[in-house]
Amino acid sequence: MRAERPRQAEIIAVGSELLTPFRVDTNSLWLTERLNALGIEVVVKTIVGDDEALLERLIREALARSEILILTGGLGPTEDDVTRKALARALGRGLTLDEQVLERIRARFASRGLVMPKINERQALVLEGAIVLENRYGTAPGMFLEQQGRVLVALPGPPSEMQAMFESEVMPLLEPLAGGLKIGYRTLRVAGMSESAVDQAIAPIYTQYANPRTTILATTSGIEIHLTAVGTTEEEIEARLNEVSDRIERALGARVFTTRGESLEEVIGRLCLIKRYTIAVAESVTGGLVAKRLTNVPGSSRYFRGGITAYSDEAKTALLGIPADLLATHGAVSAEVAEAMAQRVKVQLATTMGMAITGLAGPQGGTPEKPVGLVFIALADDVHVESHRHWFPGDRARIRELAAQAALALLYERVL
Ligand code: ATP
Ligand code: MG
Repeated sequence: MRAERPRQAEIIAVGSELLTPFRVDTNSLWLTERLNALGIEVVVKTIVGDDEALLERLIREALARSEILILTGGLGPTEDDVTRKALARALGRGLTLDEQVLERIRARFASRGLVMPKINERQALVLEGAIVLENRYGTAPGMFLEQQGRVLVALPGPPSEMQAMFESEVMPLLEPLAGGLKIGYRTLRVAGMSESAVDQAIAPIYTQYANPRTTILATTSGIEIHLTAVGTTEEEIEARLNEVSDRIERALGARVFTTRGESLEEVIGRLCLIKRYTIAVAESVTGGLVAKRLTNVPGSSRYFRGGITAYSDEAKTALLGIPADLLATHGAVSAEVAEAMAQRVKVQLATTMGMAITGLAGPQGGTPEKPVGLVFIALADDVHVESHRHWFPGDRARIRELAAQAALALLYERVL
């Protein structure tokens, strides 16, 4: 059964600095989370510079298609703060000086022993018919306006001002308009499978459901399956999420290592504690990334004994006792050396399991037999040692992250 469609919103982040490589629009992320909690879905986001004519056009377009429009930024006192004027033009409404707002801005300056600069008068210009939203942490007030079934909200750019205003001023106005629908999320994290393998396995399930909606995301810490459900009550949302989530879990089995937001290293840690396993790692290509991830978890010293970063051949011999002739015969990037490293680190740190990662992250040094991206991952316990050959695509950073992820996925499978 399909739930009623949630209200749709769009966000316009105004500010030329947001179009440079140095500043990120984080306001829209924060707003999306809050809107979703009200059951409002964000369908379009735009970032635009301080360009009045362009902003005016974007506002018109947004109001033509979306029920709720939220703008952030450009409400400051300077000439390049264009939001007020662009709104006035797009809506065909005048701007009038609000004496009360002006007085509040004056008082704000006065409270700090300052006289309000003339230029700040502009911030007291309010769209005709708009509700003024108080700014407790800055001078620029916000605005809330309903026009022809559309809701328009203008908020200041600085995140602290924007957030405080949204919580205390906008939420109470928006809540009754949200239509009583809520949105709920669930994320299933998967280890040891490619994105396409995951999709192949679960597409027959998730394509049967429009609610929840399913998206698959490949990250360097594994594949994530995101479920988004809409409903009128928490119980309804939970039931919708459970139904699809349970079916996906049945299809993928233990490869789904969490539905509760845990990281792979946390889950490994939990399993190691239950089974009283201890781990040591010997890393070459990942340079300590696996040890770093394992030690992200508080209390990991109870099962993670330590790691050795043996990057050069010399270090592999000196720190791990890998015979020089083994390195000469097979090369450092080989199953033989990976297995020897895993066995040696296990013995040196007296653990139940030893893991090793050796490979070629490039960009230089690849050959036809041993291309960049080739990685061997080995795991040794008391009775046997196994190794796996991988080829990871991407640049140096990505290859290293994928190698660390694959190593943890193997460890997870073994401790399970
Ligand atoms: P002000 O009175 O401070 O000028 P304003 O409403 O004009 O307020 P902007 O000038 O657009 O806001 O932005 C002020 C600062 O707020 C920016 O320098 C930036 O650091 C931050 N900011 C603006 N928009 C965003 C955004 N979308 N995400 C994150 N930070 C933002
Ligand atoms: Mg500004």
